[in-house]
Amino acid sequence: MRALTFVPGEKGTLDVEELPDPEPQRGELLVEGLALGICGTDRELDEAEYGWPPPGKDRMVIGHESLGRVLESPDGSAFSPGDLVVGVVRRPDPEPCGACKHGEFDMCRNGRYTERGIKEIDGYGSQKWTVEAAYAVRLDPALADVGVLVEPASVVAKGWEQIERIGSRAWFEPHTLLVTGAGPIGLLAALLGRQRGMEVHVLDRAPRGFKSDLVEALGGTYHSGSSLESFADAKPDIIIECTGAGQLVIDSMITTAATGIVCLCGLAPGGRTHRVDAGVINRDVVLENDVIFGTVNANLRHFRDAAAALAAADRGWLERLITRRVPLSSALEAFQPAENDVKVVIDLTA
Ligand SMILES: [Zn+2]
Repeated sequence: MRALTFVPGEKGTLDVEELPDPEPQRGELLVEGLALGICGTDRELDEAEYGWPPPGKDRMVIGHESLGRVLESPDGSAFSPGDLVVGVVRRPDPEPCGACKHGEFDMCRNGRYTERGIKEIDGYGSQKWTVEAAYAVRLDPALADVGVLVEPASVVAKGWEQIERIGSRAWFEPHTLLVTGAGPIGLLAALLGRQRGMEVHVLDRAPRGFKSDLVEALGGTYHSGSSLESFADAKPDIIIECTGAGQLVIDSMITTAATGIVCLCGLAPGGRTHRVDAGVINRDVVLENDVIFGTVNANLRHFRDAAAALAAADRGWLERLITRRVPLSSALEAFQPAENDVKVVIDLTA
């Protein structure tokens, strides 16, 4: 079988290579890889900003946004050949911390977790892969073309779960959502907001066009810009910040309505400084009972929530999020950003 591999810690080593077919171990599924989503993390891995190979190896298979079809399943498992599945990315640390012990490895306390395609375990970027049945999620067969969006949607589903858990500390009927950044995470966050009946606004630097069409197709309002100034009066109840842009992160903290929740999903490199009036932020957060929190990764529960959210969404809209499909034979093209990319997917069957 062919697989997309790289050397963690070395720049520009991505290559499609021939590898022996994987052998499923006890309790594992053997899966035909259908598609692999590519995100910023994969580009960072290729840039050697990140990534750890499996112990004793130099190269590893990349890929954490999976989609496949079960070829073989262990007797007595909940899976059957032909099932459409996605694999969970993270595994708990070998001597699990309290959170990992409770299945909440997305909240790992000691950082010794491992991750498919990122940290010490081969990823899902191969024509066949194995996965423990306990870390696989079965999808609605109707998601065959878009199920590769489950992993990014799982990150968003976790964000929403956390928002709702935070909200439940007091009376909570949020009305308005603002999402900053109309990439895959932002657009999926907007989708899940609409599924909760919220009035949805999405802010992105891009002028009106493809992204505004996607937001409006959801019934949301698109704002082309890079500042939260226009939200200073009609303040949203919830902000999901997906850009990591310093000024937006700072401004989001003072732009919510009372008891506002700011969910930070974006990441930015360090090294840029911003002048802030700490007193203004402090007063705003305290006097409004605001909560600002960060979120990353997802556990099995969030993958299931994401699969359910996508199954309930408009299939055509989800298909439009996948703006480019690249065959495995020219997989490196998926790592070159192109104009109007939202989600780029590698077709593992081609
Ligand atoms: Zn842990």
